[in-house]
Amino acid sequence: MSQIAKQWRSLDELVADAATIERLSDEFPDLAEALASPQNRRRVIRMLIASTAAASLSGCGDEGTRLVPAVRAPENIVPGLPNFFSGAHLLNGYATGVIVAHRMGRPIRVDGNPLHPASLGAVDVFAQAELMEFYDPQRDWAIRKRGEPASEGELQQALALERDEIVSSRGRGLRILTGSTTSPTFVAQIDALLKAYPEARWIQWEPFSRVNVAKGAQLAYGQAVESIPNLEAAEVILALDSDLLNGAPGSLSLARRFAARRNPTRTARMNRLYAIETIPTLTGAMADHRFVAGPQELNRLVTTLAAALLADEPIVAPQWLDAVAADLRSHKGRALIHVGPEQPPETHALVHAMNEALGARNNTFYLIAPVLRDAGDAHALSDLAEEMRKGDVRALLILDANPVFAAPGAVGFAEAMARVPFTFALSRSPNKTTDAALFAAPLLHPWESWSDARAFDGTATIVQPQALPLYGGYDAHQALALLTQAQPPTTLDMVKAVWASLRRNDAKDAWNAALAKGIIEGSAAKRSNATLRPQARTLSPPDVPSGTLTLLFRPDPYVWDGRYAANPWLRELPRPLTRITWDNPLLIAPKTARRLELENGDIARVTVGAFQATAPIWIVPGQAQNCVVASLGLGENQEIGGYDYYPLMGRNTELKVEKTGKRVDIASVERHQLMFDMAGHFVRTGALEEFLNNKDFLTEQAAPGAEQNLYRREPEGPAAWAMSIDLNACIGCNACVVACQAENNIPVVGKDQVLRQRELHWLRIDRYYEGDADQPNAYFQPVLCMHCEAAPCETVCPVGATVHDSEGLNVMVYNRCIGTRFCANNCPYKVRRFNYFAYAREERRSPLARNPEVTVRARGVMEKCTFCLQRIAAERIDADRENRPVGEVTTACQAACPTQAFTFGNLNENGSAVGERKQSPLSYALLASQNTRPRVSYEARIVNRNQEIGKTR
Ligand code: SF4
Ligand code: SF4
Repeated sequence: MSQIAKQWRSLDELVADAATIERLSDEFPDLAEALASPQNRRRVIRMLIASTAAASLSGCGDEGTRLVPAVRAPENIVPGLPNFFSGAHLLNGYATGVIVAHRMGRPIRVDGNPLHPASLGAVDVFAQAELMEFYDPQRDWAIRKRGEPASEGELQQALALERDEIVSSRGRGLRILTGSTTSPTFVAQIDALLKAYPEARWIQWEPFSRVNVAKGAQLAYGQAVESIPNLEAAEVILALDSDLLNGAPGSLSLARRFAARRNPTRTARMNRLYAIETIPTLTGAMADHRFVAGPQELNRLVTTLAAALLADEPIVAPQWLDAVAADLRSHKGRALIHVGPEQPPETHALVHAMNEALGARNNTFYLIAPVLRDAGDAHALSDLAEEMRKGDVRALLILDANPVFAAPGAVGFAEAMARVPFTFALSRSPNKTTDAALFAAPLLHPWESWSDARAFDGTATIVQPQALPLYGGYDAHQALALLTQAQPPTTLDMVKAVWASLRRNDAKDAWNAALAKGIIEGSAAKRSNATLRPQARTLSPPDVPSGTLTLLFRPDPYVWDGRYAANPWLRELPRPLTRITWDNPLLIAPKTARRLELENGDIARVTVGAFQATAPIWIVPGQAQNCVVASLGLGENQEIGGYDYYPLMGRNTELKVEKTGKRVDIASVERHQLMFDMAGHFVRTGALEEFLNNKDFLTEQAAPGAEQNLYRREPEGPAAWAMSIDLNACIGCNACVVACQAENNIPVVGKDQVLRQRELHWLRIDRYYEGDADQPNAYFQPVLCMHCEAAPCETVCPVGATVHDSEGLNVMVYNRCIGTRFCANNCPYKVRRFNYFAYAREERRSPLARNPEVTVRARGVMEKCTFCLQRIAAERIDADRENRPVGEVTTACQAACPTQAFTFGNLNENGSAVGERKQSPLSYALLASQNTRPRVSYEARIVNRNQEIGKTR
């Protein structure tokens, strides 16, 4: 029987363990003492930021209460039934195909497009949160000149003068600043403009660009190419500072293909993932062996590995790297090394050389011509700022970029912008750049205009509008065209002109088919046959400046570079590893925190040369020592809170972090809704060898007395709804949490309420650590209502508000609930949520965005996962009408999940997928000793360890 390792959620929990305190006392006597004291955990300073945010979320009360009769039924709409339209979500220019669900003409939900290669039916948190962006009442709606409302006539007049100047000077002094784009129509427009006015320049810039990736490919192959991983074929994967399952272009499909080879009961050969990283990522959390390395050490490891794989040099140390190299070598043609975009171009080139040496080309990866015209580079932005300072720029168009906020502080963009006579910025919401521009205008939401875009593999989508513009404004194509034409063609005509081949007579239906499917068939990029340059094998990454502390910058996992900073769904979504909501404290390793005498919530003063910022600290197990990580994107607008680290970027001077003695509360949910289990292991795990030798070894871990049923009859309905969750597949991405929120009208509650443990998410992704705080293993576990057959919540409700239905669902009768909360207290899984306030009325979500199939809960009502009862009810009605047994139902969380971690269905149906998963030898019930007989079960996580490395990850 395998040994049960203690699992913990937070450092508090870890150090509360007597053995850990004893061990820590040897090394850090003060730390152990401080953390073991309960008083130290109770320091409470109220934070104003989220209360301000929560206050700003109020005020939607009476919207939607007026009834407006449809005088004539709209065409193609059947009242009560949804419509679906394809589209694409863009991040850093790359498209992910989506399907937008509409009710009576209003978009209410975003699903993945199963036909789109970057989605395969899944959807990420950003694409789903576009719903909130679309209805955002704080979107820009007016043209402004120097910050004051202006008429369209004034803008057109100014544009007419600029047009004359552009024509007479062949575009001299005209600069167009955009983010990365893959839109063939936009690129065609720009090409035409630059051809007609050759002195104009187009600058593409993203705060988190893929410029190192592009430069690395250029170094390796002597031409621009992009590498597309094929994880289905990869048996051994090494991720070097790479979050390829979560942040890379096409990561939804990469995660799906990776997860397909993780459960040993589903795949013949389980893959093995190694991760070497400085900052913990979701990919690292899924790794079979994870190694922590600071930036300098990472460079050394890459060089050593390259020498071993490319020149057969022996690896003397570390021993584990030798074992990794041997594993990669022994899987020629089935191995892949992937490197993250933050690593320098030389590392990317070396990795290309290593992959070629491992026979990975056209097996575990292939090359295509680049999808992005230009990856965008901070240097390009600095050069532009320099030109502006020198007075060489007379007109600047800024399209959907926010360089005044999101450029490294050293660039000094705002001050440079003031030297340009004509600046015109378009953005969805007012920001620092639109405030600094001469003219600012609203940019249409992508759901309000036509366009096109390509996926990571080059597949093109025609992006169709989902609705008429809510607030007016221009789309990017129109804004660009207005620089050279007083009366430009419509955007639809521009897109049609680029895709004229779809509208030829012999391809009459191709245009409609492309819109219906959300992809243009056959548009994926062709494979490139570029050959590796020999010199790529001898490169080495540049030295990293050594210092006692290194400041690293990363996009916030959910607000990205800042473009989603005002999105309440994403602000309140717990970050997967820190479980922090609403804020972006500086992240440091446990040992570094000890050295600097910092604790969670301590406010530190960060000094980089002459620049200073103050921000709270959060300690992250598994982060490299002496690295301070700043998550960017927040702090632009003090009303919505967060800390702005952009001013510290791009400054090559020494970093100092000092304690200020002040503290702030950080709303992390890592110790909220705690379950209790004597055995202390919620996520069952085991090694592959152990499983192959004894398939029942996980069952042996079950507590004695589990699974007995003394007093309850089985529900007798025609269906028995149940779910199985595969912990081998869950990468902790939280897409399911947002899907549940969108589907079930779950409001946000604000930071102040989160601090009181009142968050309302019906589904949470618990994160557990195991092992040492410096290099722990991490596990994710989605927890929702278990729909127990012997539900403890039902027996304590005094008014019968929570009851069992004949199909095994634990249902809530909202109208009966009187708010005693006895049920929540008696639920061992802690999945019941209570409306302490009228959150649904106060949140910023427009009533128009709500799902009409789901009740909006009032103050004083308990709520929790319903297994998406509305979807089951719709299927019951269809089955009844068609006189057949109920068929398949897909829950919202299941539909969104990129790795297909959820299997849902009817246990009474012969051969149902959920029934099959519950027969898996890995299947177990959470808290089985409670005898609640949950309808949700889990498949234990199996780790495919390399015996040469042993149990060290
Ligand atoms: Fe992401 Fe949820 Fe699926 Fe886990 S179960 S991979 S958190 S969508
Ligand atoms: Fe939410 Fe439906 Fe999933 Fe339950 S089954 S967690 S209600 S999405």
